[in-house]
Amino acid sequence: MKPNSAAARDIAYHLHPATNARRHEQIGPMVIERGHGIYVVDDQGQEYIEGLAGLWSVAVGFGEERLARVADAQLRKLPYYHSFAHKSHPAVIDLSERLVGISPERLTKVFFTNSGSEANDTAIKLIWYANNARGRPEKKKIISRHRAYHGITIAAASLTGLPPNHRLFDLPLPGFLHVSCPHHYRGAEPGESQEDFATRLAEELDETIVREGPDTVAAFIGEPLMGAGGVIVPPRTYWEKIQAVLRKHDVWLIADEVINGFGRTGRMFACETYGIDPDVMVLSKQITSSYAPLAAVLISDEIYEAVADGSAEVGTFGHGFTGSGHPVATAVGLENLNIIEERDLVGHAAAMSAPFLDALHGFADRPLVGETRGAGLIGAVELVADKATKAAFAQPGATGQAVAEACHREGLIIRAIGDVIAFCPPLIIEAGEIADMFARFDRALSQVEATQAA
Ligand code: PLP
Repeated sequence: MKPNSAAARDIAYHLHPATNARRHEQIGPMVIERGHGIYVVDDQGQEYIEGLAGLWSVAVGFGEERLARVADAQLRKLPYYHSFAHKSHPAVIDLSERLVGISPERLTKVFFTNSGSEANDTAIKLIWYANNARGRPEKKKIISRHRAYHGITIAAASLTGLPPNHRLFDLPLPGFLHVSCPHHYRGAEPGESQEDFATRLAEELDETIVREGPDTVAAFIGEPLMGAGGVIVPPRTYWEKIQAVLRKHDVWLIADEVINGFGRTGRMFACETYGIDPDVMVLSKQITSSYAPLAAVLISDEIYEAVADGSAEVGTFGHGFTGSGHPVATAVGLENLNIIEERDLVGHAAAMSAPFLDALHGFADRPLVGETRGAGLIGAVELVADKATKAAFAQPGATGQAVAEACHREGLIIRAIGDVIAFCPPLIIEAGEIADMFARFDRALSQVEATQAA
């Protein structure tokens, strides 16, 4: 490594998010300089298929000129304004109206933040504030699920159900509980059907709420289809059963659509795919194809009215960000939605799902593969040491890492979540590109299979 190279300076000055710092000192960064379509190019001129759409987020692909033009125009016209104290601007008004228009019917108002984590914190604070305003301050606890990823701020990390996000942070905060993850392959009893597994998980939620006291439980949060926890496709009847329990105990449902939203599962929102009727919906990532940081919290009229009543009494809903509804981010979000609708990228994702899932499930018979799973244009291959017993590897994550490195050599970026390999390409991907992506993965997996067999 040259002393003044980008890589050397990155190691010298840049502390990376969600990265093992000591390992980064040894191996250095992959410096990405540009992108086009489903591809990115590094500073050595090497091109890669971005099989995870960045961080599950670049729906329209890289290098979309329309988004660049809209950002440029907004920066020239009104680069910044805020929406505190009754201020507003056209882009935030237009995007609010469009989001409410396409969202589940009960959701009527939007609050904007800069990130999915902030949006989940905001959802919790809106719910606490609304319950306080409605004279039920003790209804505060939030139930999430093991393996869920909902972000990294203090409250969002408490919602997250992954040990690395809790370790050394004294998390989760009191009042944040976790129930089982709806992963049949890993969580079901021997011989238990998908249906019975879903029933058992709904019973577990019911028992948890009864044990804690329904008057103390405010909300349940879940991604319709879990993403960063390992791409977990829920059993068919899971959400119907979970929602029945929540309604029985008057517990609100927060649908975290940060990864799922804007077409990922072949419908505009995964709430439609899985028959979910949320009280709160959280959006980010594909909302701007991540060309600008933006997230949104949509709330039901019931929650809005409680917040408005609270505001009338105490004067102000004391929560907001300098960047809430940023003009450039909301203008980009609006144009991104125009592109998604004009090109029918949701319909395209639904149409590409068959070639995507066919190719993915084609790996099910491979010696290292325990399970393949997916929906729409999101999927995963779970690697195991023993197919028959589903036994994990003695060194968890090492095989997933080896596959990720082999993919890298083949010009493919994917995400290894431990030994689960996740795929989530840009929604614009075409059938030929899907075939190319999985051909590269096939070669990478074969290399690792060969070393394991040796
Ligand atoms: N919720 C889900 C489902 C996510 O996948 C993520 C990020 O990956 C977040 C929330 C947090 O979003 P951010 O990284 O923008 O804070």
